Amino acid sequence: MPLEVLEQAQRELVALPGVGMSVMEISHRSKTFEDILARAIADVRELSGLDDRYQVLMLQGGASLQFSMVPMNLLGAGRTADYIDTGSWADKAAKEAKRVGTVHVTGSTKADNYNRIPDPREVTLTPDAAYVHITTNNTIEGTEWTDLPAVGDAPLVADASSNIFSRPMEFHRFGLIYAGAQKNLGPSGVTLVLIRQDLLERSPASLPTMMNYKVQAENNSLYNTPPTFGIYLLGLTMTWLKSLGGLPGIAAINQRKAAKLYGEIDRSGFYRGTAQKGSRSLMNVTFRLPSEDLEKTFNKEATANGLDGLKGHRSVGGMRASIYNAFPEEGIDALVEFMREFERTRG
Ligand SMILES: *Cc1c(COP(=O)(O)O)cnc(C)c1O
Repeated sequence: MPLEVLEQAQRELVALPGVGMSVMEISHRSKTFEDILARAIADVRELSGLDDRYQVLMLQGGASLQFSMVPMNLLGAGRTADYIDTGSWADKAAKEAKRVGTVHVTGSTKADNYNRIPDPREVTLTPDAAYVHITTNNTIEGTEWTDLPAVGDAPLVADASSNIFSRPMEFHRFGLIYAGAQKNLGPSGVTLVLIRQDLLERSPASLPTMMNYKVQAENNSLYNTPPTFGIYLLGLTMTWLKSLGGLPGIAAINQRKAAKLYGEIDRSGFYRGTAQKGSRSLMNVTFRLPSEDLEKTFNKEATANGLDGLKGHRSVGGMRASIYNAFPEEGIDALVEFMREFERTRG
């Protein structure tokens, strides 16, 4: 979370200016909350450049519930959905979809430990696929799609949980984009779903009501009580992004931050980046040291120096610096300095 956002939320926690109650105390049907929701949606539209051909939904259940809701709403009987397998989250999404219908997994880079995004020639799409699913940034493996795959007429569906609004994207090329808010958009508890209006017609009326995109859209995400505090914080985070110059502004910052880290990783050969260079993520920088023993020591000493959370995901090991939008550049500088000193004394 950006510090400015947390400080504003702190100032307004007990009573919203001019309202006299906390955002957690007012009705989600009040004019005050309706305005908070409307402003957050308008800012999401402004940042993404998506007009009213798309619906902006603020749901619950995290990206993980979208793994189920996407096929429940879009797959349909007798059709096939294509899933491009670029990492453990992509794999989880495909596995959930298989519970719902027919899934074709393609373009898998699993044999390379998911260290890259597949080449277009490795992806074979099903003719007339219900949709094609990608994971725009592979959080655990540290890879990111830079050029979106060509998918013909099939709607492109994306889990963008770990890189949404980190840079401009061709948002209009997606049929549906979803993201748990907690990495780049706000706190956990809100899930942003951007869906092209025509796809709402696919939602079967037989679905559980809460899992039906069409119902959620018709009720402007207010079918039941939405995560009001989370939506308020997401709205403040959108205002913060706009103050930095929107997505081009944050992209320049993110590119500079990532370049500093990758530059250090590539400098001497002591550190080794795990993602192939053409697939490197701006958000999750994964690297290894010469031995697992050194990785343990690195991790322990980094933590002691205030550089916490560098241990890679338990499924891949090594190190991972997750440097989402709100992570300050001074933190990168401190890490680079620590890496240099560690190499000097242990290398
Ligand atoms: C973190 C993450 C998830 C899981 O999100 P939840 O909101 O916890 O369900 C899914 N996909 C990707 C790419 C992620 O980074």
